[in-house]
Formats: sequence, C-alpha cells, structure tokens
Amino acid sequence: MAGGMAVGFAGAVTHANGAEAANGRHSDLPSKFTPTAYSLPSTKYSPFTTPDYYTFADDLVIERNHAGKPHEGKVLAAVEAHSDDIPLFAGGTVAKLIDEGYTGFLIRVSNDEAAGRTLGYGVVQNEKDIQGAAKALGCKKAFSFYYRNHRMDDNAVIEIRARLIFLFRVLQVNTVFAMDPYDHYDENPDHLVVGKAVEGACWMSGSGKDYPEHYKAGLKPANIRDKYYHPRSPQGHNLVNRIVDINSYIDHKVRTNVANTGKGPAGTAGSRLRRELAKEGKKLPFLGDDDETANFQYVKHFLMEDFRLMGQQFGLEYAEAFRYIGPPPNYRENIRRFVDEHTVPL
Ligand SMILES: [Zn+2]
Repeated sequence: MAGGMAVGFAGAVTHANGAEAANGRHSDLPSKFTPTAYSLPSTKYSPFTTPDYYTFADDLVIERNHAGKPHEGKVLAAVEAHSDDIPLFAGGTVAKLIDEGYTGFLIRVSNDEAAGRTLGYGVVQNEKDIQGAAKALGCKKAFSFYYRNHRMDDNAVIEIRARLIFLFRVLQVNTVFAMDPYDHYDENPDHLVVGKAVEGACWMSGSGKDYPEHYKAGLKPANIRDKYYHPRSPQGHNLVNRIVDINSYIDHKVRTNVANTGKGPAGTAGSRLRRELAKEGKKLPFLGDDDETANFQYVKHFLMEDFRLMGQQFGLEYAEAFRYIGPPPNYRENIRRFVDEHTVPL
C-alpha cells in the first residue's frame, strides 16, 4: 500500500560510504568511517511513528512471541506523558506482554489539554480516550495525573516521581514502559521530564528507606526488573538493543490508536478522509464503506507502515524498537561464588 524502500540493515552499513544512506538520501560519509547512526527508511505518512536515526547495540536481541502465559503473575506499567505516546510507539509490545500473561496498567501523566478543539475540550476528550486505549491494549486500569500539557518542566519532578513510586508499590509493578529520557532530540518538554521521573521511581520504589510511611501504611517495595524505553519521532536518535516482533499484535496496536480520537495522527482521520473524498465523488477502496473500517484501515495502511519498514530490517513483518534495560547482575552472589571457588585453608 505505502511505498518505501525495503533496504536491509546490512545494506545500511555497506551503502553509507559516500554513496547512499539506508533511507535513500545521499551520503557524504567517507568510507574510512563506520556509520554510528542509521537513518532507516520511512514512509513520511506520519510525523509520529519511527524516529529518523538509530544506534544499534552489538548485543541486540529480537524478542519474539512466547507460547502460553510465561509472564503470569507479573505486572507492567506503561507510563506516558500524553495519551498517544504508548499507543504510537509501544502499543504492539504492551499488548503482546499482556497477552503473554502480564497484568497491565496505563499511567498518563499530563491532562492532554493541548490536543483538542479548545483546552477544556482536549482535557475531556483525552480523559475519555485513554479508557478506550487502555481497553484495546488489554490493560486492567488507566490512571491520569493531570499535569498541564507542555508545561511539565514547570512541575517538581520529585512530586511526579513520588506519585509514580506510590503507584508502583501499590500495583507491585515488575516491568515499565516509558519514553527514552536520553533521546538526543525532543521538542516536547513533557517527554524527558516523565522519562526521568520514571527512571528514578523504578529504582526508589524498591528502596526500604524512601517514603517509609508507605511501608508503615502496609505497602511493599516494588521489584522492577525490566524497563522498555521507546524512542520518539521525528528526528529522534535513540540507542536500540531490542527489537520486538509485533506482527501478531499489529491489529491491537491499530485499535489502540483508533481509540485516540482527540490526539495524535490516528483516531477518526480515516472516516474524515473518506467523507472528504466522497464530497469530491471519489474513494480509496481500502477505506471500505463505513467509518469504523475507514478509521482502522487508515491507521493500518498509513501510520503502521513505518513499523513494517522497521520490521523488514530484521526479517519481521512489523516491529517496535526499544532500549531495554534488564536487572543488574547480582554482584554479591558473583563475589560469593568467586570466594567459594578460590578460598584456601589458612
Ligand atoms: Zn507525547
């Protein structure tokens, strides 16, 4: 449906020698340099799907589907500044992990007032939308903190972090999703504020000394072992060490984005385009004959195309990219093992 070049990742390495970059643009990079950032092909059908640049780690892992419910009993929190962040950038992976057994919660930090016909309308519409998005992802509940949109750098990060720590402990979160706080470029001040607040909250929610009143009131520390940091577009530049195969969950991702009617490039864009064309006596056949089909197909065939191109780089049909941070090595156990193996009698 959408064009775009199917250039392989290996192709990106060989072509960026003064001839052509992976996205088809001319490259003046002399051949003596190995590229350290990759500009993958993109459809340009949306400014908010995949970023322009990536750096790939040499121990990159492709996360595929798991049979059964291997994550049964575990809890994930998908934290977003705005109602369209998780649906656009990580919706396939969140839906996948929930299908594989996780209990999921969606936490929105802003009030999304900047996306709507008026500020007040934006608040109400997005409050309603995130319930639909959470349902499409398979989340058990959605929370909102209602900080003012695009003004989050005016808020005390310590307060945002403390509210997250409280929720992480109450919900007993094991895994988080958030916007990468180390993206090299981001015009939206809310994203980096939320990313940093999440990072601190993950660590501190496991501490026995931070906010001791939580424990006195009966809460338990949270044991957060996995973090999935997703990139931001356009013009973002992110370190990626995990690619997730979302082919089985692409329709979940589409439905999640269709639920965002008040914000982002998805929502009702398909039915609006269908009506516009009808006024001119034309139609795009794949948009179908009703609003629901038009909204679904518009998102799938325009906005998901960049995730298909991303998948192609790794031999997958659709993929999402992350900087994944797993649990640190158990250094005490490693030292103990070394001691057991090397001690000699006095
Ligand atoms: Zn956002």
